[in-house]
Amino acid sequence: MATLPAPMSDSSAPISPRVRFAPSPTGYFHVGGARTALFNWLLARRLGGRFVLRIEDTDRERSDPAWTEGILSALTWLGVAWDEGPFFQSERRHLYDAAAARLFAEGRAYACDCSPETVKARTDQRAVPGYDGFCRGRALPFERGRALRYRVPDEGTTVVHDLVRGDVEFQNATIEDFVLVKSNGDPLFVLAVVVDDLDMAITHVIRAEEHLPTTPKAVLLWDALADGHPLPAFAHVPVLVNERRQKLSKRRDRVAVEDYRALGYLPEAMVNYLALLGWSPADGREVLSRQEMIDEFRLEDVLRSPAFFDERRLLHFNGLYLRALSVDEFIERARPFLESDQVPWRPEHFDTAVFSALAPLVQERAGTLGEVPGLVEFLFAEPFEPDPDAFAKAIASDPEAGRILEAAIAILESVEFSPAALRRAIEEVAEQAGRKLGKAQAPIRVATMGRSTGLPLFESLEALGRERTLERLNAALGRIPGA
Ligand code: GLU
Repeated sequence: MATLPAPMSDSSAPISPRVRFAPSPTGYFHVGGARTALFNWLLARRLGGRFVLRIEDTDRERSDPAWTEGILSALTWLGVAWDEGPFFQSERRHLYDAAAARLFAEGRAYACDCSPETVKARTDQRAVPGYDGFCRGRALPFERGRALRYRVPDEGTTVVHDLVRGDVEFQNATIEDFVLVKSNGDPLFVLAVVVDDLDMAITHVIRAEEHLPTTPKAVLLWDALADGHPLPAFAHVPVLVNERRQKLSKRRDRVAVEDYRALGYLPEAMVNYLALLGWSPADGREVLSRQEMIDEFRLEDVLRSPAFFDERRLLHFNGLYLRALSVDEFIERARPFLESDQVPWRPEHFDTAVFSALAPLVQERAGTLGEVPGLVEFLFAEPFEPDPDAFAKAIASDPEAGRILEAAIAILESVEFSPAALRRAIEEVAEQAGRKLGKAQAPIRVATMGRSTGLPLFESLEALGRERTLERLNAALGRIPGA
């Protein structure tokens, strides 16, 4: 059997672990990648190990340094810091070439000049899928223009000991003589990964479930190249799915960590939520500090079943984390969103003191930092325009709205602009109109704040001040058809 003993639990590993996160920089950094990185990092932190970052950029056509930048910046934002690297596979080509030469020299691999078309023509009629071993006995020299294939033993089984999935057995007869080096000389992923894991003394390979099928190939290669160095422990972590149990995809779902960052999710909320995708602490607690996650994370507790990436739950976590900030911290964290060039007001109209006074109420209501500007837009955007839909619903189509606005104008001309006094005044308006307070507030709210939901009305009117409040109520009144 082509396996060497591997530790069967993460904590029984004899030495402090060396783990790696090995993303391919071929697109936006995916939440699934972030979850894999986090699991690696948590294990390394708990066991006093090292977390290595390796950029797998051997696919020259699909890799782009801009994607690498995105990965590094997202990991930094999440606080998932690497101890070594980043190492770039594109700079390590000599190691893969040397390993390929060795495998060839030792007869473990052979050169192959079959074109994909000839392989297909021959294997279409075969029951067993994959390469048919045509070049196995041809003893071709290994040179440019020829691929290098691994000579997989015909018999026996290769077992992957997986800390999440248990032992997974593969019949060698079902594993084709896989390509190690392409005919253009580029090493394949499986070769580069094994060479690097060996060279970097990796003890635990924690990665996405989709890599499980190639793992027996890695085990065979390890056997051939490792000179007896123990095989790393494998842990294939479950795939992330959407609410329809489909694998998360960048076409269907919001998957880029960068998008969540731009929307104003807090990295600590994101990390907490990601940690729970396929794992939970023994007592099922959900809100965990970073240290608690480090102390309690065990690969043995990672589940096999797909993990549902639920954006609404993430939003819920974000709310919890936002509300746990001190007001000062909240203001500090909201600042970039209030100073961005996307805000709906001219920068000179923004007033920090006014915002700070309302910040505790904003903090209560915002789901993300990205929602903050919208909640205070009514204070800073000039000229003020109520949202047309909200206006149509709460004012234009409410036959009582005119009377309510008139009553509000009359009473707000003289009342003190404090939340308590404003509440009493508007309660009076409601009473006159024979309405519940909430229903009477609706036209006033849309007239002054422009929306039907948002911050509480009385505090908002206090912040807006008498003059602007009356101006807006009058403007709304003037726009009611027939009023
Ligand atoms: N480069 C692979 C990926 O981005 C990961 C390979 C591995 O972790 O072994 O999916």
